[in-house]
Amino acid sequence: MQMLNSINNLKVAKHFKLSEFACPCCIRVMLHPKLLGKLVELRNTLERPVYITSGYRCFKYNQIVGGILSSYHCIGLAADIKVKDINLIKLLEIGENIDFNGIGFYEKKNFLHLDVRPTKRSRWRE
Ligand SMILES: [Zn+2]
Ligand SMILES: [Zn+2]
Repeated sequence: MQMLNSINNLKVAKHFKLSEFACPCCIRVMLHPKLLGKLVELRNTLERPVYITSGYRCFKYNQIVGGILSSYHCIGLAADIKVKDINLIKLLEIGENIDFNGIGFYEKKNFLHLDVRPTKRSRWRE
């Protein structure tokens, strides 16, 4: 089973591995280059690690975590992120500058949802 440990263990950008975006339940993964590009921009602006707390989700896992049925996580267009030692409002401002099409602000849980949905811009907070 050792071989399984190296599945998705490849760099897709200087500071990101594909495995960071994989579904926790089945290690399947989808990642749109546009999402990755914007996350790289975010990482470069911050000059510190960006933790992907949820990247791709298969439909089963999306249901388990209570995601909406048409979640952009299920088609590789969304990631939830955390960054240490930075105010969430500041992080939101940077996300706005990079122009993610969808941004969810989760104040209590202290993370941002970022996506590159093809439809019109969407902003929400919880
Ligand atoms: Zn899964
Ligand atoms: Zn999300």
